[in-house]
Amino acid sequence: MTARILVVDDIPANVKLLEVRLIAEYFDVLTADNGPRALEICSQTQVDVILLDIMMPEMDGFEVCERLKADPRTAHIPVVMVTALDQPSDRVRGLKAGADDFLTKPVNDLQLISRVKSLVRLKTLSDELRIRAETARNIGMEDLLRVTDGKLEEAGQVLLVDSRGSSQERIIKALKPVAEIMAMSDPQAAVFEATENSFDLVIVNANFDDYDPLRLCSQLRSVDRTRFIPILLIVDQGADQIVVRALDLGVNDYIQRPLDPNELVARVLTQIRRKRFNDRLRESVQHTIELAVTDGLTGLNNRRYLDNHLKTLFARSKVRGRPLSVCIADIDRFKQVNDTYGHDAGDEVLREFAARIRSTVRGADLACRFGGEEFVLVMPDTPADTAASVAERLRAIIESKPFTIRGIDVSLDITASMGIATVVDGVVTPEQLLKQADRALYEAKNAGRNRVVAAVAA
Ligand code: GH3
Ligand code: MG
Ligand code: MG
Repeated sequence: MTARILVVDDIPANVKLLEVRLIAEYFDVLTADNGPRALEICSQTQVDVILLDIMMPEMDGFEVCERLKADPRTAHIPVVMVTALDQPSDRVRGLKAGADDFLTKPVNDLQLISRVKSLVRLKTLSDELRIRAETARNIGMEDLLRVTDGKLEEAGQVLLVDSRGSSQERIIKALKPVAEIMAMSDPQAAVFEATENSFDLVIVNANFDDYDPLRLCSQLRSVDRTRFIPILLIVDQGADQIVVRALDLGVNDYIQRPLDPNELVARVLTQIRRKRFNDRLRESVQHTIELAVTDGLTGLNNRRYLDNHLKTLFARSKVRGRPLSVCIADIDRFKQVNDTYGHDAGDEVLREFAARIRSTVRGADLACRFGGEEFVLVMPDTPADTAASVAERLRAIIESKPFTIRGIDVSLDITASMGIATVVDGVVTPEQLLKQADRALYEAKNAGRNRVVAAVAA
């Protein structure tokens, strides 16, 4: 795993110590001996994880962390605070400043490497999403962060898996102000529950007598529906081997007994915040993709989508030796609607036209707005005669009922002409198929409109 780690500490010997260990694990290491220098490096180069000393003159680690997290360009970089002060209050203060993790001096090698690796892995995931979202140039990170902040007000939904009633109660009490908890003692039932409901976090208390808690963690990671739910593991102090294996499995964070309620709250909030941030990213990537292939006026798929998807359907029909039909529908004398009632009325007709197409076709058919007042219907597995009757049904549905235009209170008689073409053995290309249908449409217009014409079989 090559990743760039920035080590920040005012004492050169401390920097050296961490640098040597990280380089031994093939990390690329940058160093800074004060806060402002660290901020400068982060603004100029890509940094994957920051190891940050707390006590530094001039600007302490808390402030550095706060500044990093407040800047949308650096907010996503995980920060591990390295502190000599093993005080719960410092940890809580660090987590409030936005720190993602802690290491206590003297730094334990195993913990150092396993935590850095797990944070790098997490960051790789969110980077990928971030890049995809940015490529689409559709979202600002600032908006995302803001929305996430707002959403944080809502209590997180947490699944607690813990074999003991007494410790369940203690954890529920500690988390009451920030989360709604469902507690379970049967790990298998918990996996089921996690796939059925949407949780923001699963807390696994490693206190089972006869069950390996890592099995639960690995199951949650291997099932699609739970893959992205963060897992927080509660372990005994010194259970380093379990922690290393857990982090390797993709467990996001761990906390050691005896549980400090403040630290528990802070770690839980950090995980929930991260989860929501990544959820938002994933949604916006999805949304961007949808926008790119959807026609804004009618909500049907657009031509770009048609061009891509027709290729797929075409190849499939060829492989399976099944027929494939297309129908191009063009509204008759549509220009007159615009000219007489205005462009908005025209738009309304287009929307209603699209709604009628949607109501006529099977789920397997693909309806698209091809452009202007032209629509294309792609019908997989459909021979010419069936396509002709689908087109005829659509034609009748358009003609049979006037289109009412909101606002100006008129109803218009609308008709459409259609050309259909069918490919039986895949000898033509998708473009040729559309061209055949277009020629048939032209014939339908010439023959007096409001009719369906089928292309002569190729
Ligand atoms: P024909 O029966 O031969 O198809 O005649 P037509 O008037 O429907 O065809 P023509 O191609 O001459 O005109 C199409 C019109 O559709 C012209 C254009 O301004 C209009 N149009 C294209 N896109 C939109 C749109 O998104 N909204 C509106 N309101 N009108 C559109
Ligand atoms: Mg037209
Ligand atoms: Mg036209």
